[in-house]
Formats: sequence, C-alpha cells, structure tokens
Amino acid sequence: MTSNEPVIVLGAGLCGSLLTCYLANQGLHVEVYERRADMRNDTNAAVGRSINLALSARGIEALSKVGFREEVMSMAIPMKGRTMHSTDGKLTFQPYSKDGESYINSISRGDLNCRLMTLSEKNPNVKYFFEHKVVNIDLKNEQVTVQLPSGETKVVKGQTIIATDGAYSVARGTMMHMSRYNYSQEYLPTGYKELHIPPGPNGEHLIDKNSLHIWPRGHLMMIALPNQDGSFTVTCFFPFDGADGFDVLDRADDATLTQFFEEKFPDVVPLIPSLTHDFRNNPTSSLVTIKCWPWSVNGNICLLGDASHAIVPFFGQGMNAAFEDCLVFDRIKREEKGDWGQVFKKFQEERKRNTDAIAQMAEENHYEMRDKVGDHTFLWRKKVERLLGNKFPERFLSRYELVSFSLMPYKDALDRGAINGEIENTHND
Ligand SMILES: Cc1cc2nc3c(=O)[nH]c(=O)nc-3n(C[C@H](O)[C@H](O)[C@H](O)COP(=O)(O)OP(=O)(O)OC[C@H]3O[C@@H](n4cnc5c(N)ncnc54)[C@H](O)[C@@H]3O)c2cc1C
Repeated sequence: MTSNEPVIVLGAGLCGSLLTCYLANQGLHVEVYERRADMRNDTNAAVGRSINLALSARGIEALSKVGFREEVMSMAIPMKGRTMHSTDGKLTFQPYSKDGESYINSISRGDLNCRLMTLSEKNPNVKYFFEHKVVNIDLKNEQVTVQLPSGETKVVKGQTIIATDGAYSVARGTMMHMSRYNYSQEYLPTGYKELHIPPGPNGEHLIDKNSLHIWPRGHLMMIALPNQDGSFTVTCFFPFDGADGFDVLDRADDATLTQFFEEKFPDVVPLIPSLTHDFRNNPTSSLVTIKCWPWSVNGNICLLGDASHAIVPFFGQGMNAAFEDCLVFDRIKREEKGDWGQVFKKFQEERKRNTDAIAQMAEENHYEMRDKVGDHTFLWRKKVERLLGNKFPERFLSRYELVSFSLMPYKDALDRGAINGEIENTHND
C-alpha cells in the first residue's frame, strides 16, 4: 500500500464524518462508505433532525480543533441545569455547575452530521459513497465488500480501514469471528421513545428553553431538550415489562394512554397535542452497552466511536466520547507518522480504560436521574457539592462537572468522583 491510497472509513455518522475532517487535514485521501442515502438531500431525514443531543466540553474541543467551534455554537442551545417536574406541577432547578456559568448544549443530531460531512468535503481529498452498505470485510487482505441498492457488490481497498459504523458494527462483527475476541453487550430493561412538544403560537418555547427538563418517577422517566425552532424533543425512558411498560402501553387505547400520562406526567399532557397518536406510532427502541477488545486486529483495521464502545445515554456522553476518540486518534497519528499498526495499538490502549469508565458512569447516572434527582438526600448532596466547590474552587469539582465541563480523562473523573462521594458522605454523617 502506498500513502496515496485512500484510508477507508466505514460509516458517515457523527464519528466518521468528524474523523474524516481530521484525516483529510493530515493530507490523507479518505473514502467514506455509508449505507444510508446522503441525508443532506433526503427529505425524510429532516424528521430525524428534531432529534437532539447534549454536546459538552469534550465534543466542543474535538470540533474546535477542526475549526468548527463557531458554527457549532451557533447551532446550539445552552442548557444551564436540570429543571425537575414533580407530579404536582412543582418545578425545581438544579444548576449544572456551582457558578452557573458552565452549561451543556442541545444540538440537532441531523444538522450536525450534515454540516460535518460538508465541512470534510471542502477538502478535495475526501470522497463519500452513499448507499454503499458494508457487507463483508476481509481482515487478512484488508478488503471491504460493499453492496449498492441494486444488489450489486464491489470490493474496495485502501491503505487501512477505520470502522465508525456504530453500535451494530459489521466490522466488529467480522472481528468477533477471530479467536480470543472479547465481546459483551448488555441491554437495559428500559427502552426509549421520542415525542415532540411543538413551539407556541409565536414560535416560542413553552417551557424554559435553557434547561434540560426531567420528569423523574422511579422506574419511569422523561426528559426534554430544546430545539432551535421553539420545539422540544421529549424522550420517554420506560421499562419494556410491567403494567406501565412499553409492551403494554404501545398497545393501549387513547383513553388508557391519556389516563397514564395524566396520572404520571400531568403537566406534559397539554404540551403535546398529538400525544396518544405519536406514542403509538413512534418507534420504541432499546438501550445497550457494548464492550469489546481489541479494537484493532493485525494492525490493519481499527474501531472508533459506538462501534467499539456504545454506552447508554444517561450522561449525554456517547457522541462526546466518539468525538474525543477522533481528537486522541489525530494526536497519536501525528506522533506515530506512517505506522498505522502502532497508531491503532496506542489508541486502543489509551482509550479503553476511559471508555469503560464512561460506560460505568452512564449506567450509574441512569439510576441517579430516574430515582434520585427529586429526592431530598440527593438534593442535599448537590448542595454540599456546591458548597465545597465554592469554598475550594481549585480543588473540588463534582463528577458531573469533571465529565461534562473538563477534559480530564474519564477514568480519572470516575476515580475523583468516588473520592468526592466519600467526602460528601462524611458531611452527611
Ligand atoms: C436516545 C439516545 C440519546 C443520546 N443522547 C446523547 C447525548 O445527549 N449526548 C451524546 O454525546 N451522545 C448521545 N447519544 C449517543 C450518540 O448518539 C452516539 O454515541 C453517537 O451517535 C455515536 O456516533 P457514531 O458515529 O459512532 O455512530 P452512529 O451515529 O450510529 O453512526 C454510524 C454510521 O454508520 C453507518 N453504518 C452502519 N452500518 C453500516 C454498514 N454496514 N455500512 C455502511 N455504513 C453503515 C450508519 O448508517 C451511520 O451513519 C445518545 C444515544 C441515544 C440512543
């Protein structure tokens, strides 16, 4: 292989399109193979644009390094804290940082993905192949077979392969056929469904625009993130099983659904005029944590993003971690120059402990958000955190702040968070 041959990137999602910017900035030729049509021309994809994600420090840092900071911040809505909605309609606001100055950002997934593809394509060394589904990878000969909508297949080859084809990665599936390949997937008993709060009559947001809204109800939880058009995307996190699980509710009639929402989430009912219709018609999806090892085989393929470490969304970090992967990968590629095998080895060694740590924290945050954010002990602990933070601003940051507003490696944030917990417990005694 010569250095003029392209790097083959599999998947043009959030990670693949940002990685392509980085690779092209290093002067590499990049070919990206994506199974979907180009969503920039696809009117159906516009529906997906109302799905939003929380972007925080790590993602912003990775986007800034490719000159995208200003553009991304112009698309974002700051969320300065959580607004909790209790069943009796009471609202409680918890700022995300002690000074109230640090915030996370609500951003449209579709828009961000489209703009990253456009940004990468400004470099003439980049070529996207849409509606090219990866169906097979020959790891030994570094060849990828892609299938076109006609059913025709073709084989592509480059100087190396980087797979960013998401949680259900075909590349990882191929690697799993090798001996001594470690893999685990764990589904939560909770699934999710998205709903939509439309804008008010004058295009205004009907609930506070600068909050992440949470309706914590034990095993049931809803959250809502603002969109720029005045709407909110609501995500219901409910169990699959049980009387108020998706398996029952997805088949319930209008009256039963309305009664359920009026009982559990009364203030949401007037905000979603098409609630029962949407609930029945919008898909219910599952939530999974995926771990695997190694991420690179024979030094000729490497997994990045959800393909190597899919996590549950309760810390709002999956995309941020995937973007941080790109940042770390770029640094190591520059250090190691032409040796892909060495780049992949160093990358996976540096990243694995950190992505395992955020996977753990994301699962822990699930229980914190749904069970604790409304409870007195939790609110009190948050108060202690703020007090300690104000008293020792250089020395005390909460785990949430370390993960969302700093670039401290995730594993160090996990360890520091454990120490914080001990200090807070001492004050509780
Ligand atoms: C409900 C929910 C809420 C979330 N909220 C947040 C949040 O607030 N903040 C956050 O940081 N993260 C969040 N995440 C996580 C985030 O969505 C993912 O971590 C992120 O999308 C990972 O990017 P990726 O590029 O690795 O994978 P993906 O975005 O899944 O992209 C994979 C790409 O590969 C393509 N592909 C797949 N198979 C093939 C194939 N065979 N051939 C060719 N192409 C293929 C796909 O079409 C897609 O374009 C959330 C996730 C969920 C489920």
